[in-house]
Amino acid sequence: MADGVVTVVPLICSRCSQRMTALREQVVYQCRACGSVWELRRGSLSARIITHLAGSGQLCLPFWRVAFMIQCQSGTVGDLEAFMALCASLKQPEERGAQPPELYIPAFELPPHQAVKLARNILIRFQRFSDSGKKDLPFEPVLLSEGDLAPLAELAVLTALVEERRRNPGFLASFSLRLAEPCLVTIPFEREGKRLFQRELNLEV
Ligand SMILES: [Zn+2]
Repeated sequence: MADGVVTVVPLICSRCSQRMTALREQVVYQCRACGSVWELRRGSLSARIITHLAGSGQLCLPFWRVAFMIQCQSGTVGDLEAFMALCASLKQPEERGAQPPELYIPAFELPPHQAVKLARNILIRFQRFSDSGKKDLPFEPVLLSEGDLAPLAELAVLTALVEERRRNPGFLASFSLRLAEPCLVTIPFEREGKRLFQRELNLEV
């Protein structure tokens, strides 16, 4: 965009031609008429793929799912087995041991400290989610852009490694986090008053 030039992009669904409405902070748009999902990329609307993960609950909350790798004193931690060892986890990675560990960063409206806590709690459960196979489900607004998730990701990983940081005072100085390309998913929750629950994962926000 040239300096001083403001481009106004009408939010018109490219699938069904209905006008879409969005909150000012929203970064991903869903057409209420047909359920398709869009985002602004280089000034025009592009389709955004979103995967609805399986589980109990009616409220689809959006998360950025991102695989990661840690660089630290002991070298590179790039698979689930090594990461679980770093977390001093008693769980076994089973056949997923060679896969990269994954973070789920809340993309819906949530204060940052709560977002970090939720991401950390999902991370240390080492849950394997499966795709519900459902399409075009309505989901809560996405307010966190892909470009803004790195600081939350770093804090979520660091809070999962409290024990390691206590054991090893030099850990932080050598720590760096590398993130793969994130993708957008939803995890089903239930709403009760102002609280949100995911009972299978024992999560509460
Ligand atoms: Zn539409």
